[in-house]
Amino acid sequence: MDESPAERKKRAKRILVGLRKTYGDATTALHHESALQLLVATILSAQSTDKNVNKVTPGLFKKYRSAKDFADADREILEQRIYSTGFFRQKAKSIQGACRLIVERYGGEVPNTMEDLLQLPGVARKTANVVLGTWFRRNEGIAVDTHVGRLAERMALSWRGRNSKDAVKIESDLVELLPRKEWAYFSHAMILHGRRVCTASKPKCAACSLARYCPSAE
Ligand code: SF4
Repeated sequence: MDESPAERKKRAKRILVGLRKTYGDATTALHHESALQLLVATILSAQSTDKNVNKVTPGLFKKYRSAKDFADADREILEQRIYSTGFFRQKAKSIQGACRLIVERYGGEVPNTMEDLLQLPGVARKTANVVLGTWFRRNEGIAVDTHVGRLAERMALSWRGRNSKDAVKIESDLVELLPRKEWAYFSHAMILHGRRVCTASKPKCAACSLARYCPSAE
């Protein structure tokens, strides 16, 4: 697409306005009542659906109420409780590793900076961005999951990450295009759009409210 950086920025803002019109105040579908619960739910959501995670977390959060509870949990029992979200061994390891560090280094409280969150085992930028932007209301980056990455490419909003599926490159392109206060919102709304309209297998371009700003519109 032949477009100057200024034109791309303008188009990105129009996409943002279109997302607001269509999805209002979109936010995460993961049920949570604390930073810790959001962190755990986000770890569980990898390669799973929010619906699946929301089935597991009520019982899980009743049983484990603090980072220490997760840190001290019997690993096998924890694995059984999260089994249905898939990749349960790796996820249990990540949750426990993260919670142990939260207890040891942060007094049991989930830290609220990107630097500290990235120290936690199993926590990469996507998870850190979700927790920072959604719970702490700190926009330090844009959470790029499979939907955001796919849509950014289809909408030609990422140039460095194009064809590479490199979430960090895609994120660095997106933060240049969008106002910081909208970063968390943009990610949530793009995820909804990716689930409902711009799906992986068959984008519904004819029904897409953003088609006029999208070079991939059919
Ligand atoms: S026009 Fe098509 S490809 Fe572009 S965002 Fe909409 S559904 Fe996706």
